[in-house]
Amino acid sequence: MRVEYLIIGQGISGTFLSYYLNKAGSSFLVIDNNAINTPSKIAAGIINPVTGRRMATVWMADEILSFAWEAYREIGNELNIIAISQKNIIDFFPNPFMRENFLKRLEEKNEYVQLCTDQHQFGDYFNYEFGCGEIKPVYTAHLETLLPAWRQKLTERQQLQEENFDIAQLKITGVKIQYKDIEADKIIFCDGPGGINNPYFKQLPYAPNKGEALVVEIPGLPDTNIFKKSMLLTPLQTPEANFFWIGSAYTWDFDNADPTKEFLEKTNQVLKEWLKIPYKMMEHRSGLRPATLERRPFVGLHPVHPAIGILNGMGTKGCSLAPFFAKQLTDHLLFNTPITAIADVQRFRKILTR
Ligand SMILES: Cc1cc2nc3c(=O)[nH]c(=O)nc-3n(C[C@H](O)[C@H](O)[C@H](O)COP(=O)(O)OP(=O)(O)OC[C@H]3O[C@@H](n4cnc5c(N)ncnc54)[C@H](O)[C@@H]3O)c2cc1C
Repeated sequence: MRVEYLIIGQGISGTFLSYYLNKAGSSFLVIDNNAINTPSKIAAGIINPVTGRRMATVWMADEILSFAWEAYREIGNELNIIAISQKNIIDFFPNPFMRENFLKRLEEKNEYVQLCTDQHQFGDYFNYEFGCGEIKPVYTAHLETLLPAWRQKLTERQQLQEENFDIAQLKITGVKIQYKDIEADKIIFCDGPGGINNPYFKQLPYAPNKGEALVVEIPGLPDTNIFKKSMLLTPLQTPEANFFWIGSAYTWDFDNADPTKEFLEKTNQVLKEWLKIPYKMMEHRSGLRPATLERRPFVGLHPVHPAIGILNGMGTKGCSLAPFFAKQLTDHLLFNTPITAIADVQRFRKILTR
């Protein structure tokens, strides 16, 4: 088989890269092993314009957030699904200090925050003594619907092979690559944390980070918003109504990617104190984020092997970053247009040349 591009991985990065290459009329094949607990399968899908206690505006917010909204709408329309919704965050202040902190952001005229107009609106569902604010616009990408829908489309078009990619069988033949019976102009790795040991890119400064979440059923809780009080509670677009995602931990020091008893107990404690209505635990998810030391992704072609490319290092923000950088990479592959310098993997030319 001969294709222009061989893509490894169909998480959110491989999904959007294959989507844009398809739109451009390029030929490609995606290889994905359909592993469980990949970050794209366990993420909440939140696309938030602010981050941290200081509610600092996220990197390239204006450009990346509006791009993500359009990109998910477009792919959703093509697949006849809703791939993104606006779900503003209702931020319940856990203590007076956090309320003060929020009011300070209001004084600074942070365009993404405001006080909830009706402070009692959620009083039937939650305990909150110190009031609430709203962060907007916040979006939720429905990866739980999007990833299988795109996978099905690729499968129907015979553009997806479900198997484990074995890098030992990859051969670079001049300016092309050969993998088993597949010949391609380029191979692009979108393999998330699976790519950390990739021999072509293992020198990159990855800093994998472990995350955990629970899926809980909460009958009667409105699915209009994401709710926050030390943890985030996000409505899921599952066939069953009333399913919510709650998380997540950020652990830098870990022995394995398995779910922990500590997270389970802590989250149950939070839910018991926060919710006024009953909930039922359905699932405990855990996995690694493909985070990087500089908190910027790795996008582009290898400086020594231009037949090998990468779209990885999405860290905690894959849902917003992946569509934007998948489009940049597609344009770079087709028209040699530049990639944002701070995301371009060529910034590691020196260490990748060693
Ligand atoms: C608990 C948790 C919550 C999160 N919440 C959010 C959030 O709300 N918002 C947000 O923006 N981000 C969130 N993230 C981060 C986000 O999930 C990641 O940034 C993003 O999913 C990375 O996507 P990816 O496609 O690059 O990698 P992946 O999702 O890892 O996809 C890689 C794909 O490649 C496949 N693969 C890997 N190796 C091989 C191989 N050898 N052969 C074949 N296939 C292979 C894998 O099976 C997988 O399908 C969260 C992460 C975690 C862990």
